[in-house]
Parts: sequence; C-alpha cells; structure tokens
Amino acid sequence: MGTEIDFVIEGRASNAASTLTVYTTRPDTLGGATFLVVAPEHPALAAITTEGQRAAVDKYVKTVQSETDLGREEQDRPKTGVFTGSYVENPVNKAKMPVWVADYVLAGYGTGAIMAVPAHDERDFAFAIAFDLPVVSVIDPVMVRADAKDKTDFEKRRSIVAIVENQAGEILTINWGPTLGGRLTIGGKIEGNDTAKSTALREIAEETGYHDLELISVGTETVHYKYYAFSKRQAHDTDVTFVHVRLKSDARKAADLDESEKGNFTVEWVSRETAEREITEPLHRYGLEKFILGHSYTGPGILVNSGRFDGLDSTEARAAITEWLESKGIGRRAVKYRLRDWIFSRQHYWGEPIPIIHCPNCGAVPVPDDELPVVLPDIEKYEPTDTGESPLAAVPDWLNTPCPKCHRPARRETDTMPNWAGSSWYYLRYMDPHNDREFASRASLDYWGMVDLYLGGMEHTTLHLLYSRFWHQFLYDRKLVPLPEPYAARRGQGIVLAADGRKMSKSLGNVVNPTDIIERYGADALRLYTMFMAPYEETTPWSDERLNGVARFLHRVWTLAGDLSSASFVTPDSVGYENSLGAFETQVDRATHKVTKKVHDDLATMRFNTVVSSLMEYVNFLSAPDNRRRLLQENARGLRSRTLRTLLLLLAPAAPHITEELWHDLGESGSIHVAAWPTYDPALIKDEIVTVILQVNGRVRSNVLLPADVTEAEQAEAAAADPKVSRYLQGKTITKTIVVPRKLVNFVVRD
Ligand SMILES: [Zn+2]
Repeated sequence: MGTEIDFVIEGRASNAASTLTVYTTRPDTLGGATFLVVAPEHPALAAITTEGQRAAVDKYVKTVQSETDLGREEQDRPKTGVFTGSYVENPVNKAKMPVWVADYVLAGYGTGAIMAVPAHDERDFAFAIAFDLPVVSVIDPVMVRADAKDKTDFEKRRSIVAIVENQAGEILTINWGPTLGGRLTIGGKIEGNDTAKSTALREIAEETGYHDLELISVGTETVHYKYYAFSKRQAHDTDVTFVHVRLKSDARKAADLDESEKGNFTVEWVSRETAEREITEPLHRYGLEKFILGHSYTGPGILVNSGRFDGLDSTEARAAITEWLESKGIGRRAVKYRLRDWIFSRQHYWGEPIPIIHCPNCGAVPVPDDELPVVLPDIEKYEPTDTGESPLAAVPDWLNTPCPKCHRPARRETDTMPNWAGSSWYYLRYMDPHNDREFASRASLDYWGMVDLYLGGMEHTTLHLLYSRFWHQFLYDRKLVPLPEPYAARRGQGIVLAADGRKMSKSLGNVVNPTDIIERYGADALRLYTMFMAPYEETTPWSDERLNGVARFLHRVWTLAGDLSSASFVTPDSVGYENSLGAFETQVDRATHKVTKKVHDDLATMRFNTVVSSLMEYVNFLSAPDNRRRLLQENARGLRSRTLRTLLLLLAPAAPHITEELWHDLGESGSIHVAAWPTYDPALIKDEIVTVILQVNGRVRSNVLLPADVTEAEQAEAAAADPKVSRYLQGKTITKTIVVPRKLVNFVVRD
C-alpha cells in the first residue's frame, strides 16, 4: 500500500505533461523530498526536459539503454543522472525541487518516477551526495536501548555525540573495555544555554585533550534516545544532537577527567573498518552510520520540517499525509505490484536447456515437440566459463544441429534456466514422477491436490513464492493443473541474529558456527535451542545463556530418566514410605496427559518454542524432590514406567539422539522414532481438578481430587465416602460439616 502524489511541473519544455505522478510507500517523508527522479524510459521525459538540457538528457538515455534492470538496481553502483531543467513544488513546504533523470529508477517500479528523500532512503542519499543535492531530515529517530525497555522513571536531558575524524580519516574513540561499555565516540550533556557545538568542543577537549578542531556539520536531526546509565542508576530520556568535527592538528593538552573516568578508558584513533566492527552501542552506532559510513535513517520516529504534520509519529503520518493529499486532490492511495525480472544470467551446466534453435535464415525456431525434452550432453568440464557463456557452448556435437524448418546448419540455444525455474513447479512432478508423456497426469494431480505446507524465509515472498505461483497460475490458465493455487498454507521462519542483535556476517565477526555448538553442547541441545529461542516466525538474537539453559534441561532429563529407570527404589520399610500413592498418581497422570495434548497441538501448529517450554515445566514437576521421592516408591512402578516412556516419546522429535539412547536404556529394542505417538484422555484433562483436604475434628485424614466446578454438597459427599475419612465417622454423630469450596471439608463429630 502506498500513495501516488501529483507534482505540478514548472518550466517544462512543452505542454505535453502538466503533472508528474510519483509513487511512494513513504508519504510520511514527503517534507524531506528534495528532488524528483524519473526513469530514462519515462514516457513524459521528453516533455519534461527543457531545451537547454535536451542534448545532455538524450545522451544519457542512450548510455542507459545498454544496461540491464538488474544491474541498475544494485545498491552499491555509482550513481549517474542528468538534470532535466524542470522543477516541481513540494506540496508540504512549497520548496522548489529539481527533476532529474537517473537509471537507478526503473520504469517498471511504481509510476517510473520517485520523490527522492535522501535523508531517509539509501539510494536517494547516495545520489544526493554524488550531485550535491540537499538532504533534509524529516524524521527525528526514536530509539530505546534494551536496558531502558522496562524503565519508567526517566530523567530528561539534552546531550551531544561528537564524531571526530582526523586528516587520515581515522575516528576518535574512547575505549571503555568490554565490561564497561566497549568502544564509543564522544558523548556529553548539554548544560544550560550551551550550544551543541560548544558542548562537543568542550567534551572532546576534556575527555581526550584534543582542542584544535574544525566543525564539519551539526546534524539536523534530534535523536530521542532512552537508555539506562548503570553507573548513576538512572534512566535517561535524552534529546541528542550530533556534531561532526575534523581535527586540524595533533595539538593536545591534558585531559580534564572526573575521578570516575580516570584510568577507566583509553583514547584511541581507529580505522573506519574497526569503528564499524566495534562500535555497537546503538546511539554511537547511529552517529557512525550517518556521518561516517553514509547511511540514511529509514526507521521510525517523529516528524519535523513537515509543516502541519510536525510532531506526528511517522506511522500515523503515513495515513495523515495521504488523507490530506486526497482532500487537496493532489494524491491518492494506490497499490502497485512489482514483478522483478528474474536472474537468468548466471549460467550453470545443469540448468534446464531452453528448447530453441537459432537459424541464420529463420531466426529463433522452437525444437519440434517430438524431439523434446532437450537433454544435456555428457561432458567432462561443467565449470562456468570466464566469458559468462554457458559451458554448453563448448560442446560442438550438441551445439550444432540442423534447423527444424530449413534444415540448414543452425545452433542450439546455450543458455539454460537457473535452478529456480525448475523449483517453481517441481512439486507437480513429484505427483507422477515416472510419466513419460506429460509432467503429471490429471488423475495424479487431482488425487494429490495442493502442497500442504510451504516453508521458507521471508525473502521468498518476493522471489520463489511469487514466481512459483506465477508459474502455477499460467498452468492453471492453460487448464493443465486442477487448482489455481499451488500451496494450501505457507509459514515463513524468522532469522537468527547474532548476539549483538545484528545480522550474522563474516565481516562483523559475529557468526555462530553450528559445528562449534554441536562440539560443545551436542546436536540435541542446538536443535532444542533453535526450537525454543523464539516463535517460529520471529527474528531473534542468539543467546549463549539460553543455550546453556537448554543444555541444563537435557542434563535434568538424563538424570531423571536414570533415576526412574534404575532398579534401586524406595521400599515399604523406608522412612516416609506411603502405602498408597492416592491422589499423587492421578496428579502425575493428569500432568502427563496435559503435556501430551499440549505438545501434540503445538507441533501441529508449529509452536515449537512452547513444545519445549511445556516439556521443561513437566520435567520440573517430575523432578521436584517430593514428587521424585514418590515416583521412586516400589508401588509406583507402573506410574514410573508410563510417565518416563511418555516423556521420552514427547521429547523425541526435539531431542532425537538423547531420547533414542534413553529409550534403549529402558530395554526397548526398536527405535523411539517409529514407536507409537502417545495419546491423551480428553476426560482426564477436561476440567481443572482441585485437591480438597479432608479433616475430621480439625485433623487432616486424607485428600481427594475433585473437578473445580464441584458443588458444596458433592464435595461433602465425596469427603464422607473417602475410606480414610469414613473410618473416623463410623458410629459417630456429625454435628457440623464445614465446607471451604474447592479447598477443604471438615467434619465435626461426637460420640
Ligand atoms: Zn532455418
């Protein structure tokens, strides 16, 4: 969902186009639009271009014609473009905005024209830097550091973060060491009427001694930052201004430090690469990204420099600005679909051949049906070539073939389809793999129907999923498949981030290697932890601490299973031995049936994290000292056996190795993974059961398990029927029956 906005073109060359319609998904950033960009293929380009700029624009469009869309979309390529000579007016702040033509805007995206918001879009930012166009920040970031998320009592303050470069492009940092806060740039509080600039210069001098400095820029944004200052035991809500400074000379005087600072940090100049790797504190990271690494801010925040919309939250502003544009008749809500050209450029030997023959006389001729499929030749060398040409081009026997039309010498198409072409519809072939006349018979397609579940990362939403649906719907339109959709359900899995909350990447050195984890903790612990770490769809950071917790749980299972399956148990002559397990047995069975239902249901709905957590609770319950003692009694033999078996069966899908081993320790010969899955008795878990204490003349004689909705009369009746209680009632007169609902029954009796 986005917004289309009409910009009135001023100073245009002809009357052919009086407005230029742009499409944006970020109408909240309209105030920060400082120029418009149209695609070189835009139909109105000729009309927009002024006579003075026409030659330059025409020349530019010509150079772009040789480029591929894919190349044009690459994030890091140098930005090119030409001014059209025309201007438009920004509806929010009436600023005059130049209209450019540039190849990073594709004709197929939106309307083929974009409003460029360099402060909040990476590519627009790179373009603005390349052509010295204005950058106006319109969203003041709102950031909350993890340690302030649960805090309520915030102290308001204003502060600065200073980013200091020297002539060699190194960054001035303060290294507090790993335990005190890591590597930071310079920060400080703005006092009284001081400015951000004067505060920055003072703080740099006090903390590092450097004082021969020149200002590069003061950031136009205010970052609203909440964090917890551990040393002061105080949560801060601070409005931060960034100051970018350059060192003019190495002149340095003694630093002027607080007692708390002395000796606790070192002042260090580091390369950009080191800074990028080591500065992770979110606020200082923001400064580094914005002022050194050249990234724009694309997150949420509060609107500024946006006229009547100032102060709105950026999410609210998206709707508010669209409504306002609609009321003025210069904008409207719009949905644009975007289908990207697929990569058919990477040539592998093993792709599917494209059944086309190129003839010098007839052009591209399809391979006749009775010669299909075109089969790949057996070759020695299947590596990709240096030229980007398919390895097939080097196999003349296969390559050269007569033209099916004129029978003169011709050549086969050597490009093959990339792997994804096949993966767009291979699932259909599984339904009838030995059919040599069609990809699958209608009978098989009718029988198997849709794929039940499609799993994949979110990146597949605009790639594989999109294309395979496209492929499938084409086949459906040709009446070759019975159903319009290929998949009955889809689930996307989250991403495991590094412990620092960033994406794992080799260059950041924050990658967790599964083999290392398996070496230390075992494959079961790793598997169990990835199931447990978060809901399946959620993206979540890695945590060694929680991995340890999962490993401890497996140790607890191991110990419990060893105890419960050992031959040494508590016999009737032992101290504390209970002749009857009574309510305990029901209590354990109820817990077992409850966890069975929970694991069963949660596996079916892929709530793997709660599968693990409910098994953890169950094991905690069984391991509680009192419960474990009772389970080890001689008379609990049957209970012990069925409880342990069920636990292992339920845990088996999550921890396949340890459960298989323990299963065999129980004397089982087959694999646990083919043993029958435990069932549960719905009656046993239907109602919440309560334990009611039974007393006679105030002395506890027994207890009984009853449904939570038991009436007082039923409660008294059940109490009187209990054999241990009825013994004390025999031949006595009940003078009073005290019933505390769901808790207690006390019979007051006399002879
Ligand atoms: Zn021919």
